[in-house]
Amino acid sequence: MSLEKPLEGKVGIVTGVANKRSIAFGIAKAWHEAGAQLIFNYQGERLKDGVIKLVQETFGADTPVCDLDVTSDESIAHFFEFVRTKTDHVDMMLHAIAFAPKMEGCLEGHFADIPRDAFNLSLQVSSYSLIALSRAVAPLMVNGGSIMAMTYYASQKVVPNYNLMAVSKAALETCAKYLAFDLGRREKPIRVNCISAGPVQTLAARGVSGFTGMFKVYEERSPLQRSCTMEELGATATFLASDGSASLTGQVIYVDGGYEIVGM
Ligand code: NAP
Repeated sequence: MSLEKPLEGKVGIVTGVANKRSIAFGIAKAWHEAGAQLIFNYQGERLKDGVIKLVQETFGADTPVCDLDVTSDESIAHFFEFVRTKTDHVDMMLHAIAFAPKMEGCLEGHFADIPRDAFNLSLQVSSYSLIALSRAVAPLMVNGGSIMAMTYYASQKVVPNYNLMAVSKAALETCAKYLAFDLGRREKPIRVNCISAGPVQTLAARGVSGFTGMFKVYEERSPLQRSCTMEELGATATFLASDGSASLTGQVIYVDGGYEIVGM
């Protein structure tokens, strides 16, 4: 493993790029600089042109990009058929997908008002998708692999307004642990971890009521007096994808200026 290019020769799947502010895009840049070849998804026609343009201008005109909606088994199957036309193996996969409807109680207001359908949809998109994508990618991880998912601290402690997404993240983190136990026992082990990012200004984050005020709280209370940068998230994801983290699985790694350790 080269220290300058720790992911040289590795192939990665990056899900969740919506635009240049997406965490997935920041992590993809780090993986690309570390020497990896990447395959991307876009979610539906609305994002198609923008994501293809962004990804191919940044990572090269022949960078593979394919539609993937994680609520559809057919779409997942189609995406991985596409992946198989581009590579015979995958070494790492980033899950950076989350959704909760803008309905009463979901991302603001009373938690007790969350409707049943909204709950089911959020858990399906944000949590079950890690199981579905891990199952689909596992046969391609012929040399072993590293899967990582983006999560947030609201899974552990109450963060006002995070409501339904907090429950989805708690489920996501538990899915990651059980997947780590299951897939780690293969002859070629697959590791599964979560990166718990502090607040970052993205499209999804702006959906949480009062999100911008969170930066001030992190400045006041976290040991490093700030949240995190995209470059720091990229560096952590590169470490998790590299052979240097070969014994690390089932963990939630906080990249949040140390906010997670503070009680008051
Ligand atoms: P983002 O740019 O909006 O990315 C979220 C992605 O999820 C979008 O590409 C979105 O596509 C995709 N998605 C939603 N429903 C999907 C579906 N059915 N199938 C496939 N993709 C779907 O926001 P982000 O902040 O970078 O979010 C990435 C991850 O980081 C999320 O898991 C988020 O919870 C997590 N995270 C974010 C922060 C933060 O402060 N930003 C902190 C901690 C963790 P559409 O735009 O079409 O919905």
